[in-house]
Amino acid sequence: ARRSWRERLSGSGFAKSLGALFVRHPRLDDDLLDELETALITADVGVEASTNLVEALRKRMHAREFADANALLGALRQALIAQLVPVQQPLDVSGHKPFVVLTVGINGVGKTTTIGKLARRYRDEGRSVLLAAGDTFRAAAVNQLKTWGERNQVPVIAQGQDADSASVIFDALQAGRSRGSDVLIADTAGRLHTQGGLMDELGKIARVLKKLDPAAPHEVLMVIDGTTGQNAVSQVRQFRQIVGVTGLVVTKLDGTAKGGVVFALAREFGLPIRYVGLGETATDLRQFDAEAFVDGLLP
Ligand code: GDP
Repeated sequence: ARRSWRERLSGSGFAKSLGALFVRHPRLDDDLLDELETALITADVGVEASTNLVEALRKRMHAREFADANALLGALRQALIAQLVPVQQPLDVSGHKPFVVLTVGINGVGKTTTIGKLARRYRDEGRSVLLAAGDTFRAAAVNQLKTWGERNQVPVIAQGQDADSASVIFDALQAGRSRGSDVLIADTAGRLHTQGGLMDELGKIARVLKKLDPAAPHEVLMVIDGTTGQNAVSQVRQFRQIVGVTGLVVTKLDGTAKGGVVFALAREFGLPIRYVGLGETATDLRQFDAEAFVDGLLP
């Protein structure tokens, strides 16, 4: 499993630029550290975080702690892993029945794909899964979810055009309870006419769910696109003002030069990173693993 992270991430722009840097610059000196700082900033790790990280390494280098560039690379690895370990908190869906996952995030980030991948994962774990087509703002989203459900024998609760999202998700929770489903994954709109509209809708969904289960939703999972770098960070900032996000999924980390955003997210929000998307197929959604991720990025 570790090897597959490497396969997926080693082709990414971030891993390539770090790899090239250490080949081009095998000598341990300040130039290497300057270039490392540039590589980290370019990968959207964040300016302050990159500077802090590199300055800490520089001090240790000047104190002659590192015998060679390899030793420095080892220290960098440890420092990067240490930043991500606190957000490596897997989602446990066994505590409620059904366990309600509300997925949020703007259109195009891979939300529908992620819902499909999650449904597959939980089904393969032997759980019964129910989906709610709550993105009633886009007819295409409802159809995409239905098609996916048919193909994978996972039931999808949907209503007609222009249905009320909260009512679809409320019905789905009722259905999930009467069927004894283990997990309910609800889609929501990624964009309404106004931010206020989205806030009202997500608020209403949470309110009606609580009528059936005061603890629901048990997870508000925000999906963000890793290729958008710092933009993903500002999306999380915005959504957190709308709804209480409890976990993140970072998609499309395969092949992106902006994978450093994972560090920026960990640092800024400390929210659990539940899963990362390393490709388009069902098994490419991985439970987040700090060590495997960092090892995939480093040469
Ligand atoms: P939505 O609008 O947020 O529901 O986005 P979709 O689920 O329709 O996904 C948008 C595109 O991103 C699709 O072409 C997906 O196949 C692709 N995608 C989603 N996750 C990943 C991933 O982890 N890696 C890659 N390479 N593509 C992904």
